[in-house]
Amino acid sequence: MQFLDIHTHKLCKDAKIRSILSLSLTGKEQPVLPAGQEISVGLHPWFATMAHLEADYCRFVEMAKETKIKLIGECGLDRLKGEKLENQLIILRKQLNLANGLDKPVILHCVRCFDELMALKKEMKISVPLIVHGFNKKEELGRQLLDKGFYLSFGPAILNADSGAAAMLKHTEVFFLETDDGDRNIEEIYQAAANLKNCTVETLKALIFASWEKIKLI
Ligand SMILES: [Zn+2]
Repeated sequence: MQFLDIHTHKLCKDAKIRSILSLSLTGKEQPVLPAGQEISVGLHPWFATMAHLEADYCRFVEMAKETKIKLIGECGLDRLKGEKLENQLIILRKQLNLANGLDKPVILHCVRCFDELMALKKEMKISVPLIVHGFNKKEELGRQLLDKGFYLSFGPAILNADSGAAAMLKHTEVFFLETDDGDRNIEEIYQAAANLKNCTVETLKALIFASWEKIKLI
């Protein structure tokens, strides 16, 4: 069974690993979609601007329909970077609407905007799975997100046993793992997660593929 890296910015050609390469469509140039690679596309909150929204969104809509595009994102909200929050909400709404219409799950970036994110999900009646990536907050917030129907993905933060990510992972059954843009490889992250959950890496692979199946991505 393969490792699943649900969110990475690095192209990986290892047959042991199934990865979803995340591309932001906010640059001037059209990104090349690598052959045989599963991909997510979105307008990243760090780079998306109102000035280029129309052009970026047109390109995004075209690409998002392709079958190799497994997830929409990363997109989301970031209180510390990018456009003012009000504009980030406009940009995110467009992407969530599209994801809902295409029936594709979303990979979300969220920095200090969890209340806004939860309110948006409710208000827009989003029915596709929403995955909060790189979760590393208190267990209480993680619980709240799960209760509201979000999914969580954990990254290199779990290598620190004292992190919020590690604490949350111990008590979560449906979740994902990712490398994001870090230097740690997915095998290391699986091993750390297996240690935290007191199980083998093989058991963990099965658990994560069950999570994957739950969001109907296979
Ligand atoms: Zn990322």
